[in-house]
Amino acid sequence: MITISNLSKFYKSGNETIAALSQINLQIQKGDIFGIIGFSGAGKSTLIRCLNRLEEPDSGRIVIGDTVITDLNEAQLRLARRKIGMIFQHFNLFDSKTVFQNVAFPLTVAGHPKDQIRDKVRELLALVGLEDKENDYPSQLSGGQKQRVGIARALVNDPDVLLSDEATSSLDPQTTYAILELLQDINRKLNLTIVLITHELDVLQHVCDHMAVIEYGRVAETGTVDKLFLNPESETARRFISIIDYYRDQRFVIEGTGAGI
Ligand code: ADP
Repeated sequence: MITISNLSKFYKSGNETIAALSQINLQIQKGDIFGIIGFSGAGKSTLIRCLNRLEEPDSGRIVIGDTVITDLNEAQLRLARRKIGMIFQHFNLFDSKTVFQNVAFPLTVAGHPKDQIRDKVRELLALVGLEDKENDYPSQLSGGQKQRVGIARALVNDPDVLLSDEATSSLDPQTTYAILELLQDINRKLNLTIVLITHELDVLQHVCDHMAVIEYGRVAETGTVDKLFLNPESETARRFISIIDYYRDQRFVIEGTGAGI
């Protein structure tokens, strides 16, 4: 469903050229929850933002469904983006608009009829569990509730794909799991393909089916999430797993001394 071929992206910084992405090749199946994991600076954000061309790739090809995203002109890209929802670490809500107005925004600017907008927004607020918050402002909501608004807004055009750019990174662990479960629920109910970038192995383990590890702008390994844990091939995956093992061992040491945690 999503095919990324030979994708490269460079940034200029002074006299230096940084290869943020080098010859990325990936296939993501329709209906999958696909995790892209890597340490900070690995190229995850650049990769996910190339999928809807918020960043312009320097070379390579991206196909989503039947659409060659990299061949589209500006007007075609605007239409195609309606079918690619996106959620962000810092939610990107309008503080001066209510929950209802935030979710309705893409439909309002596209000039949809008011009753159609109302029905769609209410359907989505029910889906994300915020039926009773439509007149609240973002400042009245918790982080998890704000992200639920972000998710509802991302779904307002019935997208085929949802891109999640570190969407749980600023949430506490309990809220993170609730949001991940919501994403899983939406994936099943709407058969939506979700591409999720994260620097947290826990997120990948909790929600993703398949994964790619990004290291220095390259794909270091791909496969199922189970395979990553059973047989990590890349340096990045081994480091992630050793960090988890380290903290587990620390807990055993503390519990063993009766200190508790
Ligand atoms: P990640 O999301 O994995 O933290 P990024 O995709 O943000 O990584 O960044 C990949 C590399 O590209 C990093 O070396 C980063 O410093 C560089 N980079 C990202 N955006 C820009 C930019 N706008 N200008 C210059 N360098 C950038």
